[in-house]
Amino acid sequence: MTTFRNFIGGHWVAPSTGAYFENRNPANQDDLIGQFPASGVADVEAAVASAQRGFARWKRTPAPARGDVLRRVGDLLAARKEELADIMTREMGKPLAETRGDVQEGIDTAYYAATEGRRLFGHTVPSELANKWAMSMRRPIGVCGLITPFNFPLAIPTWKAFPALLCGNAVILKPAEDVPHTATVLVEVLLEAGLPPEVIQLVHGMGEVVGKALVEHPQVPVISFTGSTETGRLVGETCGRMHKRLSLEMGGKNAQIVLDDADLDLALDGVLWGAFGTTGQRCTATSRLVLQRGIHDQFVERLVARANALRLGDGRVAGTEVGPLVHADARAKVERYIEIGKAQGATLACGGARATGGALDKGFFFQPTIFTGVTAGSRLDQEEIFGPVLSVIRVDTVDEAFAVNNGVRYGLSSSVYTRDVNVAFRALQELDNGITYVNAPTIGAEAHLPFGGVKETGNGHREGGWEVYEFYSETKVGYIDYSGALQRAQIDNY
Ligand code: NAD
Repeated sequence: MTTFRNFIGGHWVAPSTGAYFENRNPANQDDLIGQFPASGVADVEAAVASAQRGFARWKRTPAPARGDVLRRVGDLLAARKEELADIMTREMGKPLAETRGDVQEGIDTAYYAATEGRRLFGHTVPSELANKWAMSMRRPIGVCGLITPFNFPLAIPTWKAFPALLCGNAVILKPAEDVPHTATVLVEVLLEAGLPPEVIQLVHGMGEVVGKALVEHPQVPVISFTGSTETGRLVGETCGRMHKRLSLEMGGKNAQIVLDDADLDLALDGVLWGAFGTTGQRCTATSRLVLQRGIHDQFVERLVARANALRLGDGRVAGTEVGPLVHADARAKVERYIEIGKAQGATLACGGARATGGALDKGFFFQPTIFTGVTAGSRLDQEEIFGPVLSVIRVDTVDEAFAVNNGVRYGLSSSVYTRDVNVAFRALQELDNGITYVNAPTIGAEAHLPFGGVKETGNGHREGGWEVYEFYSETKVGYIDYSGALQRAQIDNY
């Protein structure tokens, strides 16, 4: 069996605990990928000490030179795209077409970061006093603790690590325990691209041990967390108490709205991709379908036929459209929600059970599932399931559709299918989400635009695009008075 290591102090090292956990293919539990460190608090301590040394050096490296490293990272990821996609599919299950997209998002993020090294704009503004200069600039902050989920094993670590590094910080990555192999290759790539070794640390292990220790460490002033709202709340409580800079990206309960005037073929393709892509395990997955009364019945009929025809299987086999759930707990959670849906009076239109037979028996497969007759306010309407379960809600009007979309505690993504330009612009204005798509599914964010959600999905920060660079850097303002006299702002000039 292959034994993997942490990357701490500039070396690949065994965990202080001597303990390891297994990583198995969710499509085939007989396929053991390897064992990974179940690290302890001492490993986090060592990583922080090393990252502080790395930071002292890296913050003095000019930002364009830091960008050059990230450009090489992009080149190396592009060269290893197929290999990385295969590693990812093997450890978390989504089909190769999707894991290739995951790598591409990392490549895009690297190239964007590379060019940002020649911007990192501050402002120069006029001073209110004569012979005085006023400006702002960006400064690195220190050691950033990055805690990531399983569903985008490469893209999400790159969304966090690349801007953090470009801004001149050192990074400690704690990847989800389901996808440690992808994170290992990402660190290899960063080192091969020329990142000084102590600028990056990789500490594998359990969230409650390694993640918690990172969040609680006083010398880690920045935490960026993506995961469930429940874990994010714990992280937020600690960071609040310790006055840390914190970015939270958490759960979603995203709706696709299809209005009577929509292009139904387009809407059908959109909801199949949005609801069942990545087996519904995306923060932006379509978990609610809001249908206007006029098209409801015919749309449901066509949707059920298409969902029943989706090809389930090993994501590494050509032709597979839907892979397994990530682990047994995820499948058990989906099964609980099937019972909840039935108990609350929803109608099971298709799916609702494990997908079995042949090779499927070796993995955590679940049939694409659609509930109809779901009522606003019920648990199927309100709670994140994170699996291939779509809840259909019927509405009469546009206003009602928008109210259903907004009537949840989450606010990540939404989608509206309509041919009415007035309704399209109303949706952008009135839907309480960080992202709204018109005539496109709830998934499909691009790396150069800000990404994140409102309400209990986030805490006001965004990943991606230009905004994330503000999170990973501190604003410093400089005033230079070249008048040779004491000039008192707000006093001498008024
Ligand atoms: P999770 O909350 O179980 O785990 C996320 C990470 O947190 C993992 O690395 C885990 O080890 C770590 N962790 C667990 N307990 C911790 C603790 N006490 N302290 C610190 N770290 C801890 O989430 P998951 O199952 O990996 O991912 C699914 C969730 O992530 C879903 O809710 C999904 O919506 C969300 N998600 C959100 C976004 C977004 O951008 N909004 C993107 C992807 C996933």
